[in-house]
Amino acid sequence: MNAEIIAVGSELLLGQIVNSNARFISQQLAGIGINVFFHTVVGDNPDRLKSAIEIAEKRSNLIILTGGLGPTKDDLTKETIARHLGKNLVMDQEALESIELYFKKGNRVMTENNKKQALVLEDSTILPNHHGMAPGMMVDNGNCVYMLLPGPPKEMEPMFLHFGTAALSKQVKTDEKIVSRVLRFFGIGEAALETEIIDLIEQQTNPTIAPLAADGECTLRLTAKHQDLQTAEGMLDEVEGNIRARVGQFIYGYDNTSLVAELMRVLKDKKLTIAAAESLTGGLFQQELTSVPGVSSVLKGGVVCYTNEVKEKVLGVKKDTIERHGVVSHECAKELAENVAALVSADIGISFTGVAGPDELEGKPVGTVYIGICIRGKQTVVEKLELGGSREANRSRSVKYGCYYLIKQ
Ligand code: ATP
Ligand code: MG
Repeated sequence: MNAEIIAVGSELLLGQIVNSNARFISQQLAGIGINVFFHTVVGDNPDRLKSAIEIAEKRSNLIILTGGLGPTKDDLTKETIARHLGKNLVMDQEALESIELYFKKGNRVMTENNKKQALVLEDSTILPNHHGMAPGMMVDNGNCVYMLLPGPPKEMEPMFLHFGTAALSKQVKTDEKIVSRVLRFFGIGEAALETEIIDLIEQQTNPTIAPLAADGECTLRLTAKHQDLQTAEGMLDEVEGNIRARVGQFIYGYDNTSLVAELMRVLKDKKLTIAAAESLTGGLFQQELTSVPGVSSVLKGGVVCYTNEVKEKVLGVKKDTIERHGVVSHECAKELAENVAALVSADIGISFTGVAGPDELEGKPVGTVYIGICIRGKQTVVEKLELGGSREANRSRSVKYGCYYLIKQ
């Protein structure tokens, strides 16, 4: 079964809201083995909606429409489908009662146009709305199945989960399941990653391997199809194993996690506390960390040591170190990390010192960064980066590298 999703609403075209309904429905359809080949967005205009439906029918045998089931004049989805299929709209008694009850519960007076929401396509399967008024519906004309769902996600999502997927599962001829898994990479560019595994990407049709880059990170989405869910998962395990054998050192997590969330998880697991000395990043590392709930068991605190004075007086960096090597140096990063850990008795001290830009510093080019990592009982390590991006990019990438080095320790 090949599906197309048509989201109806001028506010989508105007960019006032994003089409989250299409994303949600696509994810759910994948879980029941239905391929989605197109997402269409169309305004509240019956002629253009009709033409979108005509195009969709030529290439899909399941069309899911969201939006335009409400009581107002611009809500035209079911009227347009009814005219298109030559079907009548009939009053659904159950839907009408449930709308009346909805008004009674809210102590509100029901206006005449609200009755319009209880009109449904004749011969359709009704999908009850437990979170609003307009019911959804599904109708099969032999060539194509049409499913109409309300626009508001808080109504549409539970309706689709409770009634929509069950109704569709009966229609699906194949019971193939689709499972996917996202591998998250850091410290390797998209081009380099692709080069390392290009033969795997080209050979694979099931599972497929799809690379994507965003915000200085890369991901690979692995997708497998099989009738048996466990077999599909096994297929993903195998291809993940092949990828790990080549570029596993750059993988830091799965699916929707982030570097900072992974770092928190690792530190919590190992029951380790951390403190930060932030010159270049001016507190950005701690800001990122504190955006994750439950950080208090991990982060002790830190020092924004922007000036040499604070580096010396608060964090005890030796004057001689600064004079001989400068603040953007291996030596300074090392002292900062060791001293901030000692200052607050943390298990780990991390430091960020570097040249954010736009001007060079101490004769060192923009993007030169030193990250010091001092872990109790281990020798302090200092990582040097040559980033050379914008001021903002250099600072935020340094934070990501800091998290990455700590995860890999
Ligand atoms: P209502 O009874 O609220 O009028 P409806 O079924 O007529 O519902 P619309 O009028 O098209 O739906 O949209 C109502 C609201 O639902 C929109 O203002 C928007 O907030 C949300 N919405 C509609 N379509 C989408 C979509 N594709 N993705 C995310 N949100 C949406
Ligand atoms: Mg509406």
